[in-house]
Amino acid sequence: MTAESVWFITAWGLVGLAGVLAVWALWGDRIRHIRRGLPARCPTCWYDMSVSRPNEVGAYQCPECGKLARHERRLHRSRRRWCWLLPVPLALAGAWCAACIPEVNARGWWAMAPRPALFWALPEVQPGRPPSASAGQFSAAEELRVRVLGEFDELVPLYWPERVLLRNRAVGVLARDDASDAARVTAAHVLVRLDADALRSAPERGRANVILAKMELTYASMRSFRCRGTVFGNIGARDEKPFLIAMQRPDRFRFEFMDGFPFELTLTKRYAIWKDGPTVHSWWTIQPGTETLNDLSLALSAATGVSSGSAYAVPSMLLTDVMKGSRFSRIGAPELLEDGPVAGRDCYRVRGSFRSTAAETMWIDKETFMLLRHDDFLGMTTVYTPERDVPIDPAWFQFDPDRQDLSPLQDPGRQPRPEGMPPPGSAMETFRRGR
Ligand SMILES: [Zn+2]
Repeated sequence: MTAESVWFITAWGLVGLAGVLAVWALWGDRIRHIRRGLPARCPTCWYDMSVSRPNEVGAYQCPECGKLARHERRLHRSRRRWCWLLPVPLALAGAWCAACIPEVNARGWWAMAPRPALFWALPEVQPGRPPSASAGQFSAAEELRVRVLGEFDELVPLYWPERVLLRNRAVGVLARDDASDAARVTAAHVLVRLDADALRSAPERGRANVILAKMELTYASMRSFRCRGTVFGNIGARDEKPFLIAMQRPDRFRFEFMDGFPFELTLTKRYAIWKDGPTVHSWWTIQPGTETLNDLSLALSAATGVSSGSAYAVPSMLLTDVMKGSRFSRIGAPELLEDGPVAGRDCYRVRGSFRSTAAETMWIDKETFMLLRHDDFLGMTTVYTPERDVPIDPAWFQFDPDRQDLSPLQDPGRQPRPEGMPPPGSAMETFRRGR
């Protein structure tokens, strides 16, 4: 028998003991006289009234204390033994402790705290994976992550008073000026999961966080995703990288982009990463030959720099189980700018920064919460045309380097540059003029 089952049996034994004590205290008399019924006694002083006679209105008066029992039934009540009830809460408390002991041994004393007591630790919770249970003494915040928030802040099922408490706690954290970025990310995720109208419930100070959390959850919950897009830069005659992303859960994926040399007008370089089942493949014009990998996140991080970030941004939100690094939606110190349109769709604009470098701006569709445009700190702009939960041609998850003419991604010709961007080559102009 394991130590865990010993504590389990002890806990239930104590619950049983508490039950027996409570029944004995309240109905003990009735049980003892179960065959012949309770003898008649004064309900107050317990004087034996089996020989008393009722008065003219059918009531009984106790000769000892004078108590008037209006009906004979009152003389056959079971006597409550209140002192027997006293050990009941003690036994129940003991049962709770015994049940908690295996978890206390694994994680420390916070394992014994009821869930709502952990909610106050919300601002200390770091986003990301829960700590491992072999790590010894857990803080209240780590205990909260293990017992309430789970690996991706997905929340365990809570009772409604707990939901109200936790929701209010999250609103409180988002309203605070001194809350860290990590605390705000977690609080925003909690709020989005507990409140269907999170954006309205959030304090002004936390709205940008809530929009980012909604965007992240949108991508994480898609069954399939298809997107074409282009990264626009400022170097050379035509600094444009068209790309496509396709995903079909559980294990189909494709990312591909095209690229040209700085002073050429046609795109001659191609980089493809594809996966149809467990194995990941990649192919790049610069390094001919198909490479086979086991890890999609490694393949994508190899392509991140050369793809100007398009291999990372959306995939990091789509593939939360694979991409363990930071997610694109988790920019620091996010703030809400004035709304703006992308291709006729109204967008929230959220500005923030990665690793405290210069500002990044995300344009997020107000209706679908999908990313439509991203202006980065290098002056590049990426535009997206995303579609979710659409059927995707299985050929999209294959790639034949010898038949690149069959790829769904072909050079689309020069694209109109997004609003607000300088003309192509402007970085070189600035550079020349600077000299
Ligand atoms: Zn009496």
